[in-house]
Amino acid sequence: MKHVVIVEDDLDISRLLTLELEESGFRVSAYATGVRGLAGIREEKPDLIILDLGLPDLSGAEIARRVRRTDLIPIIILTAADDVETKVEMLNAGADDYLAKPFHVEELMARVGVQLRKHSVGAPRTVGDLTIDGVRRQIFWTTEEVKVSPREFELLQYLATQPGRVYSRREIEQNVWGEDLPPTSNVVDVHVANIRGKMRDAGGYGVIRTVRGVGYAIKG
Ligand code: CA
Repeated sequence: MKHVVIVEDDLDISRLLTLELEESGFRVSAYATGVRGLAGIREEKPDLIILDLGLPDLSGAEIARRVRRTDLIPIIILTAADDVETKVEMLNAGADDYLAKPFHVEELMARVGVQLRKHSVGAPRTVGDLTIDGVRRQIFWTTEEVKVSPREFELLQYLATQPGRVYSRREIEQNVWGEDLPPTSNVVDVHVANIRGKMRDAGGYGVIRTVRGVGYAIKG
Protein backbone atom coordinates (compact mmCIF):
# COMPACT_ATOMS: atom_id res chain seq x y z
CA MET A 1 0.00 0.00 0.00
CA LYS A 2 1.44 3.37 -1.02
CA HIS A 3 1.87 5.84 1.79
CA VAL A 4 1.20 9.58 1.43
CA VAL A 5 2.11 12.27 3.94
CA ILE A 6 0.01 15.47 3.89
CA VAL A 7 1.27 18.62 5.61
CA GLU A 8 -1.59 21.11 5.61
CA ASP A 9 -2.89 23.45 8.34
CA ASP A 10 -6.31 23.85 6.73
CA LEU A 11 -8.04 20.91 8.36
CA ASP A 12 -10.97 20.91 5.91
CA ILE A 13 -8.59 20.41 2.98
CA SER A 14 -6.52 17.92 4.95
CA ARG A 15 -9.57 15.80 5.83
CA LEU A 16 -10.93 15.92 2.31
CA LEU A 17 -7.62 14.79 0.83
CA THR A 18 -7.16 12.08 3.45
CA LEU A 19 -10.60 10.68 2.72
CA GLU A 20 -10.09 10.79 -1.03
CA LEU A 21 -6.65 9.18 -0.87
CA GLU A 22 -7.81 6.47 1.55
CA GLU A 23 -10.71 5.65 -0.74
CA SER A 24 -8.20 5.24 -3.55
CA GLY A 25 -6.25 2.74 -1.47
CA PHE A 26 -3.50 4.90 -0.01
CA ARG A 27 -2.34 4.96 3.58
CA VAL A 28 -2.30 8.59 4.76
CA SER A 29 -0.57 10.46 7.59
CA ALA A 30 -1.65 14.09 7.98
CA TYR A 31 0.21 16.81 9.89
CA ALA A 32 -0.88 20.40 10.51
CA THR A 33 2.51 22.04 11.10
CA GLY A 34 5.79 22.04 9.22
CA VAL A 35 7.90 20.82 12.13
CA ARG A 36 5.66 17.84 12.78
CA GLY A 37 5.33 17.16 9.08
CA LEU A 38 9.07 17.12 8.57
CA ALA A 39 9.55 14.78 11.53
CA GLY A 40 6.79 12.52 10.15
CA ILE A 41 8.40 12.44 6.71
CA ARG A 42 11.81 11.58 8.16
CA GLU A 43 10.37 8.79 10.26
CA GLU A 44 7.84 7.29 7.86
CA LYS A 45 9.65 7.71 4.53
CA PRO A 46 6.39 7.95 2.54
CA ASP A 47 6.04 7.29 -1.19
CA LEU A 48 4.73 10.80 -1.84
CA ILE A 49 4.40 14.10 0.01
CA ILE A 50 1.68 16.75 -0.38
CA LEU A 51 2.79 20.06 1.15
CA ASP A 52 0.84 23.23 1.75
CA LEU A 53 3.04 26.23 0.94
CA GLY A 54 1.58 28.47 3.64
CA LEU A 55 2.06 26.77 7.00
CA PRO A 56 2.20 28.48 10.40
CA ASP A 57 5.85 27.57 11.02
CA LEU A 58 8.05 26.19 8.21
CA SER A 59 6.88 26.95 4.68
CA GLY A 60 6.18 24.09 2.29
CA ALA A 61 9.14 25.25 0.19
CA GLU A 62 11.47 25.04 3.20
CA ILE A 63 10.25 21.52 3.97
CA ALA A 64 10.79 20.51 0.34
CA ARG A 65 14.35 21.86 0.44
CA ARG A 66 15.15 19.92 3.61
CA VAL A 67 13.63 16.69 2.30
CA ARG A 68 15.58 17.04 -0.96
CA ARG A 69 18.92 17.04 0.82
CA THR A 70 18.46 13.36 1.53
CA ASP A 71 15.43 12.00 -0.29
CA LEU A 72 13.94 11.70 -3.76
CA ILE A 73 10.36 11.23 -2.55
CA PRO A 74 8.01 13.01 -5.01
CA ILE A 75 6.62 16.27 -3.62
CA ILE A 76 3.47 18.12 -4.70
CA ILE A 77 3.02 21.61 -3.25
CA LEU A 78 -0.37 23.24 -2.78
CA THR A 79 -0.34 27.00 -2.99
CA ALA A 80 -2.80 29.86 -2.66
CA ALA A 81 -0.58 32.06 -4.83
CA ASP A 82 -0.59 31.34 -8.55
CA ASP A 83 2.19 33.62 -9.72
CA VAL A 84 5.42 32.95 -11.56
CA GLU A 85 7.73 33.78 -8.62
CA THR A 86 5.97 31.31 -6.37
CA LYS A 87 6.14 28.57 -9.01
CA VAL A 88 9.85 29.17 -9.60
CA GLU A 89 10.52 29.13 -5.85
CA MET A 90 8.68 25.82 -5.45
CA LEU A 91 10.46 24.15 -8.34
CA ASN A 92 13.82 25.44 -7.09
CA ALA A 93 12.99 24.02 -3.68
CA GLY A 94 12.70 20.58 -5.30
CA ALA A 95 8.94 20.24 -5.74
CA ASP A 96 7.97 17.87 -8.55
CA ASP A 97 4.61 19.54 -9.12
CA TYR A 98 2.34 22.20 -7.65
CA LEU A 99 -1.32 22.98 -7.67
CA ALA A 100 -2.97 26.36 -7.04
CA LYS A 101 -5.89 26.55 -4.61
CA PRO A 102 -8.78 26.19 -5.11
CA PHE A 103 -8.24 22.96 -7.03
CA HIS A 104 -10.41 19.99 -7.89
CA VAL A 105 -9.53 16.97 -5.82
CA GLU A 106 -9.71 14.84 -9.01
CA GLU A 107 -6.91 16.92 -10.47
CA LEU A 108 -4.76 16.41 -7.40
CA MET A 109 -5.43 12.66 -7.51
CA ALA A 110 -4.37 12.59 -11.17
CA ARG A 111 -1.15 14.46 -10.32
CA VAL A 112 -0.47 12.02 -7.47
CA GLY A 113 -0.79 9.14 -9.96
CA VAL A 114 1.57 10.82 -12.43
CA GLN A 115 4.25 11.41 -9.79
CA LEU A 116 4.05 7.87 -8.43
CA ARG A 117 4.41 6.41 -11.92
CA LYS A 118 7.35 8.70 -12.67
CA HIS A 119 9.11 7.68 -9.48
CA SER A 120 8.23 4.02 -9.65
CA VAL A 121 10.94 1.38 -9.88
CA GLY A 122 12.47 1.52 -13.32
CA ALA A 123 12.27 5.26 -13.89
CA PRO A 124 15.72 6.86 -14.03
CA ARG A 125 16.86 8.06 -10.63
CA THR A 126 19.39 10.80 -10.13
CA VAL A 127 21.51 11.19 -7.03
CA GLY A 128 23.90 14.11 -7.51
CA ASP A 129 25.87 13.32 -10.70
CA LEU A 130 24.88 9.66 -10.62
CA THR A 131 21.95 8.49 -12.75
CA ILE A 132 20.47 5.01 -12.54
CA ASP A 133 18.23 4.03 -15.45
CA GLY A 134 16.26 1.02 -14.26
CA VAL A 135 14.55 0.44 -17.62
CA ARG A 136 17.72 0.27 -19.72
CA ARG A 137 19.73 -0.92 -16.72
CA GLN A 138 22.40 1.66 -17.33
CA ILE A 139 24.50 3.74 -14.95
CA PHE A 140 25.72 7.22 -15.82
CA TRP A 141 28.18 9.53 -14.12
CA THR A 142 27.17 12.99 -15.38
CA THR A 143 26.64 12.09 -19.05
CA GLU A 144 29.13 9.21 -19.31
CA GLU A 145 27.89 5.66 -19.12
CA VAL A 146 29.64 3.46 -16.58
CA LYS A 147 29.51 -0.20 -17.59
CA VAL A 148 28.66 -2.38 -14.63
CA SER A 149 27.70 -6.03 -14.21
CA PRO A 150 24.07 -6.91 -13.47
CA ARG A 151 24.88 -7.53 -9.79
CA GLU A 152 26.79 -4.27 -9.51
CA PHE A 153 23.81 -2.51 -11.06
CA GLU A 154 21.44 -4.01 -8.52
CA LEU A 155 23.75 -3.08 -5.67
CA LEU A 156 23.91 0.55 -6.79
CA GLN A 157 20.16 0.65 -7.36
CA TYR A 158 19.56 -0.75 -3.89
CA LEU A 159 21.88 1.74 -2.17
CA ALA A 160 20.16 4.57 -4.09
CA THR A 161 16.76 3.61 -2.65
CA GLN A 162 17.55 6.05 0.15
CA PRO A 163 20.63 8.13 -0.57
CA GLY A 164 22.61 8.79 2.59
CA ARG A 165 21.14 5.83 4.50
CA VAL A 166 23.67 3.26 5.59
CA TYR A 167 22.84 -0.28 4.48
CA SER A 168 24.38 -3.15 6.41
CA ARG A 169 26.11 -5.99 4.58
CA ARG A 170 23.32 -8.28 5.74
CA GLU A 171 20.63 -5.98 4.26
CA ILE A 172 22.59 -5.80 1.02
CA GLU A 173 23.01 -9.58 0.89
CA GLN A 174 19.31 -10.18 1.50
CA ASN A 175 18.08 -7.57 -0.98
CA VAL A 176 20.68 -7.87 -3.73
CA TRP A 177 21.74 -11.50 -3.48
CA GLY A 178 18.46 -12.69 -2.02
CA GLU A 179 20.14 -14.70 0.73
CA ASP A 180 22.47 -14.47 3.70
CA LEU A 181 25.99 -15.22 2.53
CA PRO A 182 28.47 -17.02 4.81
CA PRO A 183 29.89 -14.68 7.48
CA THR A 184 33.33 -15.07 5.97
CA SER A 185 32.15 -13.97 2.54
CA ASN A 186 33.57 -10.69 1.26
CA VAL A 187 31.48 -10.71 -1.91
CA VAL A 188 29.69 -7.44 -1.05
CA ASP A 189 32.99 -5.67 -0.41
CA VAL A 190 34.44 -7.01 -3.65
CA HIS A 191 31.46 -5.72 -5.62
CA VAL A 192 31.67 -2.32 -3.93
CA ALA A 193 35.38 -2.13 -4.76
CA ASN A 194 34.66 -2.99 -8.39
CA ILE A 195 31.97 -0.33 -8.65
CA ARG A 196 34.28 2.25 -7.07
CA GLY A 197 37.01 1.44 -9.60
CA LYS A 198 34.62 1.85 -12.52
CA MET A 199 33.12 5.06 -11.15
CA ARG A 200 36.60 6.47 -10.51
CA ASP A 201 37.53 5.88 -14.15
CA ALA A 202 34.51 8.00 -15.11
CA GLY A 203 35.45 10.76 -12.63
CA GLY A 204 33.03 9.73 -9.90
CA TYR A 205 35.07 9.73 -6.70
CA GLY A 206 33.55 8.75 -3.37
CA VAL A 207 30.15 7.70 -4.72
CA ILE A 208 29.88 4.88 -2.20
CA ARG A 209 30.83 5.68 1.39
CA THR A 210 32.07 3.00 3.81
CA VAL A 211 30.76 3.26 7.34
CA ARG A 212 33.19 1.11 9.29
CA GLY A 213 31.54 -1.73 11.16
CA VAL A 214 28.12 -0.87 9.72
CA GLY A 215 28.01 -1.01 5.95
CA TYR A 216 27.75 1.17 2.89
CA ALA A 217 25.85 4.26 1.78
CA ILE A 218 25.53 6.17 -1.42
CA LYS A 219 26.31 9.85 -1.10
CA GLY A 220 23.06 11.64 -0.30
CA1 CA B 1 -2.19 27.05 4.78
